[in-house]
Amino acid sequence: AGLVRGKLGIVTGGGSGLGRAICQRLAENGASLVVVDLRKETAQETVDLLSKASKEGQHYAFACDVGKREQIENLKSFFVEKFKKSPDLVVNNAGITKDTWLLKMTDEQFDDVINVNLKAVYMMTQTFARLAVEQQRSQSVVNLSSIVGKTGNIGQTNYAASKAGVLGFTKAAAKELARYNIRVNALLPGFIKTPMTSQIPDKVIAKITERIPIGKMGEAEDIGNVVTFLCSDLSKYMTGAQIEVTGGLDM
Ligand code: NAD
Repeated sequence: AGLVRGKLGIVTGGGSGLGRAICQRLAENGASLVVVDLRKETAQETVDLLSKASKEGQHYAFACDVGKREQIENLKSFFVEKFKKSPDLVVNNAGITKDTWLLKMTDEQFDDVINVNLKAVYMMTQTFARLAVEQQRSQSVVNLSSIVGKTGNIGQTNYAASKAGVLGFTKAAAKELARYNIRVNALLPGFIKTPMTSQIPDKVIAKITERIPIGKMGEAEDIGNVVTFLCSDLSKYMTGAQIEVTGGLDM
């Protein structure tokens, strides 16, 4: 406990799945968070869980579509007003899938996934890095990619492209921002139990699980643990890293 004590953070997509588990671990370790999601209600549910689990930090729910520049600006204003400084942690976790075969994909399905999974990571990182540089404060940014960004996956040309894009973005940003004491790392989850994966039929789950050396799907807390490490000073010599948290799947 206490790995990120006193740090202020933003977690996008914090109202569900991995984002919620990330918020829980960060809060247990002493961070104060702005939990961001499309709907304030889901973000607030996370905040309520955090407040129950730990008395240390103060947490806020904020509704923001991270695919829209003007809404990120509103988030920035809210953050500065509340805390009077730049965030120490930015976790770009919000993500969507719109799976279909390439031969059937529409431009809209492609653009939507790129916009939320990749362009939003660029807009969020840029906005809050600018704030950190202005205020001469350090920062740790963690971007959620996916093992699919490395391997590709049937039905996910849009998603795989977005998640591979996150890896390239992360490394380029890491190189540019290191001089300002801003670290940028990427985490590639494998096959983790969340609402995003709950629709997958049992047969398919069994087939994928056969390929996982650790022999089971991951838990959301497995991702929360590694994000907390990347946000903490334990990883202070790491930037531009891409960490696979997959139970060994497709290593
Ligand atoms: P999820 O669907 O359970 O949660 C995603 C959250 O993001 C939701 O609360 C959703 O409302 C929010 N969101 C979506 N679009 C948004 C937007 N434009 N602005 C703000 N919030 C938005 O998904 P999850 O499984 O928790 O996935 C979290 C991240 O991890 C995603 O980036 C996903 O691609 C990645 N990932 C998940 C897995 C897995 O196995 N679950 C594997 C690899 C990568």
